Amino acid sequence: MTTKPSSLMQTYARSDLAFERGEGAYLFTGDGRRFLDFASGIAVTALGHAHPHLVKALTDQAGKLWHTSNLYQVPGQTRLAERLTKATFADQVFFANSGAEAIECGLKLIRKYHDDFGDPKRYRVIGFEGSFHGRTLSTLAAAGNEKYLKGYAPNVDGFDHCAFNNLNEVRAKIGPETAAILVEPVQGEGGMRAADIDFLKGLRKVCDEFGLLLMFDEVQSGVGRTGKFLAHEWAGITPDIVSIAKGIGGGFPMGACLATSKVAAAFGPGAHGTTFGGNPLAMAVGNAVLDIVLDTDLMAHVNKAGAHLDARIDELLKRFPGTFAAKHGKGLMRGLKCVPEVVNTDVVERLRGVGLLTVGAGDNTVRLLPPLIITHAEIDSAIDMIAAVAAQAKAA
Ligand SMILES: *Cc1c(COP(=O)(O)O)cnc(C)c1O
Repeated sequence: MTTKPSSLMQTYARSDLAFERGEGAYLFTGDGRRFLDFASGIAVTALGHAHPHLVKALTDQAGKLWHTSNLYQVPGQTRLAERLTKATFADQVFFANSGAEAIECGLKLIRKYHDDFGDPKRYRVIGFEGSFHGRTLSTLAAAGNEKYLKGYAPNVDGFDHCAFNNLNEVRAKIGPETAAILVEPVQGEGGMRAADIDFLKGLRKVCDEFGLLLMFDEVQSGVGRTGKFLAHEWAGITPDIVSIAKGIGGGFPMGACLATSKVAAAFGPGAHGTTFGGNPLAMAVGNAVLDIVLDTDLMAHVNKAGAHLDARIDELLKRFPGTFAAKHGKGLMRGLKCVPEVVNTDVVERLRGVGLLTVGAGDNTVRLLPPLIITHAEIDSAIDMIAAVAAQAKAA
């Protein structure tokens, strides 16, 4: 007898867990097991689960209007765009539904800008090893990760790659067709490595020198994750384009591409579009997220909680040198790199076994992505579970 194949395409190596509800930093299974969530749906549920302010914003909007399309004015879009531009370098915003789409918008804007106002020969974008920009054909090509590109040839043309944090390689790679540089201020999927502040400043200088646009992928690092609204703000530089997504919807799917007016001027009516992007439900939630991220002292909290997590990670590194080799990241976007003898995904699985949810990343790293509202006590509880798993591993 053959077993019936799953009705789902088998694109994910899922764990067997299924959750029924969430509250703050905790998730609960149907049979009542409780998990401390240091994955946050991969940096998405920035304000934890079932945040009352977000639930109210979504349910209020759900009773009024779900969708009209971009054929009409969407007041929630205007309000959210005004708040995002006030809080950032940007002058204009395009709303999308996901991270990949927000990046795709930026990539199209780069080409259109050079076609209209820059140098039409310029279309190539320099990206970096270890980066991740999404799973569409062009965002895969932008990141250049062979593991994800395999089987999807031919690759979308127009992308070159350099070693992360290596300004000399970037300079050497720039040619007459180079249009822009695309980089994550903190690489998420690649292993939580933060770009050096001097590297980011150097990229801005190089872009100015050669007439290139500087685009940041802040899909994971944005919306307060590192203790500033956008992570590149730590470097004190002004980008041309930034894409955000994960945290801005707090769990409702949405993305946004932010740009200066000089660059965004290349997008006129018909230049780009989406059916669902900027839909009233998403805008209601996005505005509710900003009520808390921008209009409360949440950033001060993230910096305090991030410092506490960092100090506790230092203790883990000292106590368990046979398990953890290094720490990476910033704020509440942290990575624990395992020693070569320990496989990160095994650690993630064993942590799940003791009630802590984390995410694997490249470079044999365990990602710690608690909600931004995480308390010191919850961080201590997570550290206890990590220590228990590391101690078990040592005993084994
Ligand atoms: C998750 C992620 C993306 C892709 O977002 P999707 O919503 O999955 O398309 C792009 N860039 C970075 C840095 C990400 O972490």
